[in-house]
Amino acid sequence: THFGFKSVPESMKETLVGQVFENVATKYDLMNDAMSLGVHRLWKDHTIRTMAPGPGTKLLDVAGGTGDIAMGFLNYCKEIHGDTSAQVKLLDINPKMLEVGKQRFSKTPHHNTSQVTFEVGNAEDLSSIPSNSYDVYTIAFGIRNCTHIDRVLHEAFRVLKPGGRFMCLEFGKVQNPLISSIYNLYSFQIIPVIGQVIASDRDSYQYLVESIRQFPSQEQFAQMIMNSGFTIVGDGWEDLTFGIAALHSGFKL
Ligand code: SAM
Repeated sequence: THFGFKSVPESMKETLVGQVFENVATKYDLMNDAMSLGVHRLWKDHTIRTMAPGPGTKLLDVAGGTGDIAMGFLNYCKEIHGDTSAQVKLLDINPKMLEVGKQRFSKTPHHNTSQVTFEVGNAEDLSSIPSNSYDVYTIAFGIRNCTHIDRVLHEAFRVLKPGGRFMCLEFGKVQNPLISSIYNLYSFQIIPVIGQVIASDRDSYQYLVESIRQFPSQEQFAQMIMNSGFTIVGDGWEDLTFGIAALHSGFKL
């Protein structure tokens, strides 16, 4: 049986999303690789290279989960600039996901410990974070799970410094009809089975597939980013792998 998330009232969405990630936290990294055939790593690498952070960059990684973006960011700063002054705060609503992230960071002693901090928090209300305090804000595969996207964008705008950059990596809509039908078949038929086999949790992955389908198109989302005050360059996004994912970006000018 499925949760039937589609008919769930908004007020319950947060609780349900919490349960989903609670159920999958420990299997999360393995599941990402299995479901995306490893491609999510390329999308995340691409995000960091597009960001091209300079020395001393302060990054807020919201819905940071187990820390792929935060880790990629610090590795980039170290490898490209030999920089160990860059800082990242990993914020997530789910303490279990952050716990997995902490474990990962504790196994990479080459990072100066003051470079990464962890905080439990909600993307829709970052009241613990001062305005105008970060150079870059990232949210990867997280905004789709939030109830009020406009509140998330409003908070992102607030905490960024003037000149700061908002970057969102999220699933998108595939335009090509052939690719789209293969992708739909894969998402609806195969992903829940992988979820069942690896995480013994078909419902959570059923939900993830459904949430991807309900998220706005690339154009609509770019419009929402602009409506929140950001300035976009060109279309404001880049399709990745036929639009299966998209990287949106906006500047606080
Ligand atoms: N950014 C990580 C990555 O790309 O691997 C994790 C992505 S995971 C699919 C989504 C994350 O969003 C989960 O860790 C979940 O706990 C978090 N999340 C969901 N709703 C949230 C909210 N309202 N505020 C902050 N984090 C949230």
